[in-house]
Amino acid sequence: MPKCLQCRAPFIEQLDITNLFCSGKNICDSCRTQWTEVQINEAKHCKRCLKRKNNNDSTCKDCSYLRQHYKMMEQLYCQYNYKGIVKKILRQYKFMKDYALKEVIAQNIALPQNNYDYIIPIPSPRAREEERTFNVVTTVLDEMDVKYLPCVKTKHKLTQSSLTKKQREEQVNSFEIISTHDYTDRYILLVDDIYTTGITVHQVACKFFVRKIRKFDVFTFAR
Ligand SMILES: [Zn+2]
Ligand SMILES: [Zn+2]
Repeated sequence: MPKCLQCRAPFIEQLDITNLFCSGKNICDSCRTQWTEVQINEAKHCKRCLKRKNNNDSTCKDCSYLRQHYKMMEQLYCQYNYKGIVKKILRQYKFMKDYALKEVIAQNIALPQNNYDYIIPIPSPRAREEERTFNVVTTVLDEMDVKYLPCVKTKHKLTQSSLTKKQREEQVNSFEIISTHDYTDRYILLVDDIYTTGITVHQVACKFFVRKIRKFDVFTFAR
């Protein structure tokens, strides 16, 4: 009898027309329900960044802030709110380094099916630590058999006090592209684990707009 990847309880897989051709879903119904409960309901969210709206909001404050400072993403794709089971699983995976959870996450998310030229993971601010353990984004992408281009690095951060004013300003956007690919007119997808303010992904995108990409979308596991 198969065991649920998430709760490890054995379960009987009901073979019916809906799963006959896509077997290999190894999560029990009760665990799957926990994920469904925190799914983003688009009607109540900003269409672009999926931020939850208050009833009287006509514009999204986060998007207008980003639009003032950056070239804006086309669309955030994200299926889950960062709460409930999703928060629990992601915390256990990221901070307690429960590597096996990569399968649970991979099974519950789906990348947008647009024709991207490049799918690019956002490097973690915990890069040093991840050298010893694992990268939370690329580990899941590998599990999903997604081909990606790991071409963004964060420069080593110096302590603020040791910096000149100019260095301090540069430090604000410490991302750099480390590949010689041609990005002209390309359509890219940036992938991160969690979307909060959106500033990180837009800083990364700045560096790609210098290299003349046409547009970009963002995909995150939760927001
Ligand atoms: Zn389960
Ligand atoms: Zn928005």
